[in-house]
Amino acid sequence: MLKLKNVSKFYYSNGVITSGFSRVNLELDMGEFVVITGESGSGKSTLLNVLSGLDTYEEGEMYINGQETSHYSEADFEEYRRKYVGNIFQNFNLVNSYTVYQNVELALMLNGEKSSAVKDKVKSIINRVGLAEYMNTKCSKLSGGQKQRVAIARALAKDTPIIVADEPTGNLDSSSAAEVIKLLHEISEEKLVIIVTHNIEQVERYATRLIKMHDGKILEDKKVNLPQTKAGYETADYKDITAKDRIRLGIRNAFNIPAKFILIFAVFLFVSMAVAGTYSGFQKMEYDDSRYGYNQFFSDTSDKRIVINKEDKTPITDEEFTEIESLENVGKVIRDDTLIDYSMSLSDSEYWYYFYGNFTDIKYFDGELTAGSMPEEPYDIILEGSADDYYLSQDPASVIGTLLYLDEYDENGERKESKPFKVTGVFLNDEMRNGDNNRFYAGEEILEHLRQEAAVSNNNLKFMFEGQYYDVSSGEGGFSIVPDSDVPKGQAYAGGSLGEMSQSGTSKGKEIVINAESIYSEGEMKVTVTAVYNKGNLEELTGVKYTEDKEGAIYVNEEEFNDLVNKGIFQSSVYVSDTEELDNVLESLKEMGFETLAMRDALTSDGQDLIQIIALMKTFMLTVLIVALFFISYFIIKVVLKSRNAYYTTLRTLGASRRVSKQLLDIELFVTATLSFVVFTALIIMINAGILNLSALTEMADYLSAGDYVLIYMIIIAMSYLISHRFARKLFKDSVMNTYREEV
Ligand code: ADP
Ligand code: MG
Repeated sequence: MLKLKNVSKFYYSNGVITSGFSRVNLELDMGEFVVITGESGSGKSTLLNVLSGLDTYEEGEMYINGQETSHYSEADFEEYRRKYVGNIFQNFNLVNSYTVYQNVELALMLNGEKSSAVKDKVKSIINRVGLAEYMNTKCSKLSGGQKQRVAIARALAKDTPIIVADEPTGNLDSSSAAEVIKLLHEISEEKLVIIVTHNIEQVERYATRLIKMHDGKILEDKKVNLPQTKAGYETADYKDITAKDRIRLGIRNAFNIPAKFILIFAVFLFVSMAVAGTYSGFQKMEYDDSRYGYNQFFSDTSDKRIVINKEDKTPITDEEFTEIESLENVGKVIRDDTLIDYSMSLSDSEYWYYFYGNFTDIKYFDGELTAGSMPEEPYDIILEGSADDYYLSQDPASVIGTLLYLDEYDENGERKESKPFKVTGVFLNDEMRNGDNNRFYAGEEILEHLRQEAAVSNNNLKFMFEGQYYDVSSGEGGFSIVPDSDVPKGQAYAGGSLGEMSQSGTSKGKEIVINAESIYSEGEMKVTVTAVYNKGNLEELTGVKYTEDKEGAIYVNEEEFNDLVNKGIFQSSVYVSDTEELDNVLESLKEMGFETLAMRDALTSDGQDLIQIIALMKTFMLTVLIVALFFISYFIIKVVLKSRNAYYTTLRTLGASRRVSKQLLDIELFVTATLSFVVFTALIIMINAGILNLSALTEMADYLSAGDYVLIYMIIIAMSYLISHRFARKLFKDSVMNTYREEV
């Protein structure tokens, strides 16, 4: 059965070589009850470990069933242990956190028997070793003698032809010891039992062979009784533990040591929170920055805003507006949005105050006035500014009543005449940042006037006179087109500058073709110069006072001009009520035939650069964080798992392969990690639902999307897998005995 030929075993530790035993020759057969004795340190344990494949040997030849083993791989020895050897140790090597039943069941499960099918078998084996009443007692609560009987029961369950017992009675009182030996003898029929003991009297009756060791050598080897039988043997038909039982066992292991479970659970929970916290912090930065980024063409970059125009570039109709307004999640629709992005500066006549911002319809004002009152007259306005604005916040009331003028100048640097706006109310808004544009809330009269002005500035104006084009918008020739209600339709009043361009010296009676072109529309109007004005008659013709710089002005009919530059509403702004629904609104608008531009996606300038930097930083920091967290958790979990060393080594002595053991560890950590993730998610859900109020987590909850949770889960699962992998590698890099030794 087993044969050693000149086998030697050396230990290497700290550069010192010690001999475990040397040049041992031995042949053991089925049916023998072999007793090995010898003083401490004589090599008995070493010999048993080599015989049972738990430890390696360095010299000589070992035969198992006539097969030489020097070429055996780790997996071959694993198979040998699994099929042939049941071990019983002086210090039991039971799973203390398991019950008696579970310990015995474990041996059967690891040999591929279904846990659901072995109940009776386990019970009968436990009965056989006399522990029926302790079936569901945890092994940690048993006495030494009872523990050793559990170990025997386990070896029985494994049902191997060889049983190796190293000082099984060493830790037992004499009566327990006698029972254990008797039990071992009982089960030794048709087996090879090898037992190390100091107490020869106890075993003398049963022993078929006595081997005495001294100083690593066999001193004496004598047959004392005849072997019980010399019959053949059968090894159990070995199968791997079933998938279902792997999961069962993994889950059992996750929970069966509460302190360990809580610690690992806490580590994973901490990791989830740390990753989520950092991640959401970046999300918030990115979000804030995208909100405050700016766009060259749009001054209102609210993330709720969508700018729309028709795909076919035609004006938007009233029916379409009604339809848009009735869409879900649409807050307000600003039909004519020209003013939204038409920023202008206002200042008082003394230049004491200076404001830069945009006009908005007073009907959208929903703040609470910090000072003053709501407008009453057509040219009254409300001024909105940041609460952080140093000058405004000093004394908001002092602004009330101030007259503000458009900050526009002519070529001579003189402020252009305009009707002033009167500030009747001031609103300091906490949500605005210092440096943001101001907002001027005004009534329809002001807005209409400004829209016209904006429409002109949004058009590229030029005119043709005597076959020659003059670009008005770029100031060519100092010409300007000025709408005036005093000019009849189809006519124009021109100054001296135009006459100078004419071959005949005068523009009177000649035709001017004015052309206006915007990104949405193009149009023409033909007018005939019916009057040439000069210093003397301008005021009479138009009501406008003459100044020298007005020589280039061409006065045309106001209504006609408006029709030219204002060909309907081509572009509008839709504001969603909830930014999270923005994509849905975009979808609906597109279905209606609109081209859309979400401000959120239009921030191509500084903001975007910053977002890219933040995104890069996010990736980098998260990577660093995860690596750091990995090592921190690894070291914590490693310390915690140290207590699992014994468990996994026990599994190996029971025949679990490296793969199976690692899978069990994987499942154990997976279950714990998943549970901590579930608790983490539950916490967030409760916070979102308002059941729980943890201010530290509330912010975090706001900035995480479903995808982020999946990501966090994947991160901790990957971590648990890596930890398991590293730990298993350490656990299995050595022989079983060395791993045990490290443990003790
Ligand atoms: P026994 O079981 O008979 O008391 P062992 O087999 O434990 O003896 O030890 C045999 C020899 O091997 C002793 O000299 C002991 O010091 C040495 N030895 C045992 N285990 C180790 C080890 N892990 N490292 C180094 N030397 C060891
Ligand atoms: Mg020993």
